[in-house]
Amino acid sequence: MSAPTRFDVDREQLAAILDGEPRYRLDQVWSGLYQQLQAPAELTNVPKALRARLEEVLPEALTPVTEQMSDRGDTVKFLWELAGGSRIETVLMLYPGRATVCVSTQAGCAMACGFCATGQAGFTRQLSTGEIVEQVVRAARRARDLDRRVSNVVFMGMGEPLANDTAVWSTVERLHADVGMSARHLTISTVGIVPGIRRLAERPLPVNLAVSLHAANDRLRDELVPINKRYPLAELTAACADYLRARGRRLSFEWALIDGVNDRPSDAAELAAIARRLPLHAHVNLIPLNPTPGWPTRGTPPDRVEGFRGRLEDLGVNVTVRRNRGTDIDAACGQLAAGQPVTLTLGGRRP
Ligand code: SAH
Repeated sequence: MSAPTRFDVDREQLAAILDGEPRYRLDQVWSGLYQQLQAPAELTNVPKALRARLEEVLPEALTPVTEQMSDRGDTVKFLWELAGGSRIETVLMLYPGRATVCVSTQAGCAMACGFCATGQAGFTRQLSTGEIVEQVVRAARRARDLDRRVSNVVFMGMGEPLANDTAVWSTVERLHADVGMSARHLTISTVGIVPGIRRLAERPLPVNLAVSLHAANDRLRDELVPINKRYPLAELTAACADYLRARGRRLSFEWALIDGVNDRPSDAAELAAIARRLPLHAHVNLIPLNPTPGWPTRGTPPDRVEGFRGRLEDLGVNVTVRRNRGTDIDAACGQLAAGQPVTLTLGGRRP
């Protein structure tokens, strides 16, 4: 891996960098970076020469390439370049009572879900803790310019968080302890890496877990979410049940509604059965499939989304239809490709 960047160093490493300075400097610099969201050059309570040295030894990890806005400025998508040249995206979403940052955890993704633009482009490399934390800090600075404070972080950008869980977990700790975010405002989303869910259940902070289900029988899920062949539904739902027992927190299932593929009454019935079998009923988030270049099938039209939702409700499932954000700038779920060319999925289904 390349040299540590600004948010890769932990407190001890920063203390070593500040060796020879008065002891209070460590707190000054640390809280300047994490709480005041300042760059070293902006730390006016620190001597000028030290500010310059910190800028040099703690370089930023993310070089801005573009910033796009949609929803009248309420959704901002950042495209960054990393050391080595890979590109990733981050999305800031402003809502009336909260502001959410959606971060990437890998450059690309190895999970190969055909309907997801990131999956279509393939895997490039893992992100470091500093590269993930900095996405939050940079988006939070942008939010602050708009007089807003970031309240939530979702690990739902490019990549599979539980395939990079060491860096993801130290990011969670940093956001919790240093940025000051509550664990219940942090959500890790997974395609269903069973050992990762089990490791997550052992971690001390009760973050939210979202599982990208999309199909509730193995035949269809094998096709939509290839990792299902390795961790089939019975194992996945058992891990979810154990997570709920260990954590006692709500779990959500993500379900991208694909026209004629997973929006039939039988799909609702199978999904309801899984959701209701869990010790605490799972919450279902329905997202009409967003268009991506490499997948020919469309999202379920709005009237049938409503029908599917109603059917789930009748079956006793808590369900929300997610409002789509940023489709016009390819910032919505499954559309993050960081400008990578995508491979056309020949196995893609047609309506
Ligand atoms: N790899 C993790 C984190 C990504 S979260 C995971 O799979 O959970 C991104 C969410 O958007 C996932 O639920 C993913 O399945 C969903 N998604 C992917 N492509 C989509 C698309 N075209 N339309 C709507 N949702 C999509």
